[in-house]
Amino acid sequence: MLEELLELSEKALESPLSQKDVNKIFKTPDKYLIELVLSANRIKRAFSGNRISTCSIISAKTGICSEDCAFCAQSKISKTNINRHRLLETEKILDAAIEAEKNGADRFSIVTSGWGYRGDEKEFLKILEAIQVLKQCTNMKIDVSLGMLGKKAIEMLSKVEVDRVHHNIETSKRFFTKVCTTHTFQDRVKTVKRLKEAGLEVCSGFIIGMGEKIEDRISAAETLRSLQVDSVPINMLIPIKGTPLGTKSPMKAMDALKSIAALRFLLPKTELRLCGGRVQVLGDLWILALFIVDGVLIGRTALTTTIRDPELDIKAMKDLGLILKNSEDYQNHRTHT
Ligand code: SF4
Repeated sequence: MLEELLELSEKALESPLSQKDVNKIFKTPDKYLIELVLSANRIKRAFSGNRISTCSIISAKTGICSEDCAFCAQSKISKTNINRHRLLETEKILDAAIEAEKNGADRFSIVTSGWGYRGDEKEFLKILEAIQVLKQCTNMKIDVSLGMLGKKAIEMLSKVEVDRVHHNIETSKRFFTKVCTTHTFQDRVKTVKRLKEAGLEVCSGFIIGMGEKIEDRISAAETLRSLQVDSVPINMLIPIKGTPLGTKSPMKAMDALKSIAALRFLLPKTELRLCGGRVQVLGDLWILALFIVDGVLIGRTALTTTIRDPELDIKAMKDLGLILKNSEDYQNHRTHT
């Protein structure tokens, strides 16, 4: 089995694998988990060596959203008890960024809830101001996740030299209508395309474990590959009480890890980041995921869920001999390998 998987990892580095091969990788028997991780690690090493990037986020605006995403505690249909608030003052965002940098993050993202921005909203101007302040006062890459974005908003983000824009596609085109009815898969793809056309770096991923089939995970990864996004965050559903998906059982850690490894084969030349659900779904197996991915979301909290003490995560990464580097080093590494 190891030989077969290693062969597939070599093949994946050359050209996209066939559906048949990819399906087989997703369905690797449990007893070959280590062989699968080793083969996925072969791809990670070719892409980013033993480097790992860390990022943190702040929920700069929480709740108050017009959309109905079934997995999200901030949606208009969510009954979850969360601290809903309008856009935080720049000073508060800066405090969180400084704390994240102290904790070892090399990227920091300002995340807001809601449909998105066209570029003419007062609130959007305040976000632009916060980006500029954070870029002046920290040494991290400063990213944003602001929902759907119009052309004007994207131009303005380019002007303030935001480092990267995050916008998930959430799942496959086929499954999207099962998790959201207030906007479409195509709406999300449009924003990603606009960002790429404007020359901005894009971080766009999806959530696994919402009830989708393996084919949906493959399709979502293929969409992201065709959109040539720079970074793909992998999230595992945390069923949040009060949301439509709140009663779902979480994925089994083993299945989640196998999917992460399979996604490495599907996206061998794209930065993969381990994000939501790392602690809740993977549990102790998250360490094995470090052999597969190129980046990890760290911090005490994500948006409306918890992560864990970042000191423990940084220690785990260092203990494994991983080199904590920022994305610029990634780019350098990539152009020299
Ligand atoms: S994912 Fe974003 S758009 Fe969807 S409900 Fe949550 S905050 Fe609103």
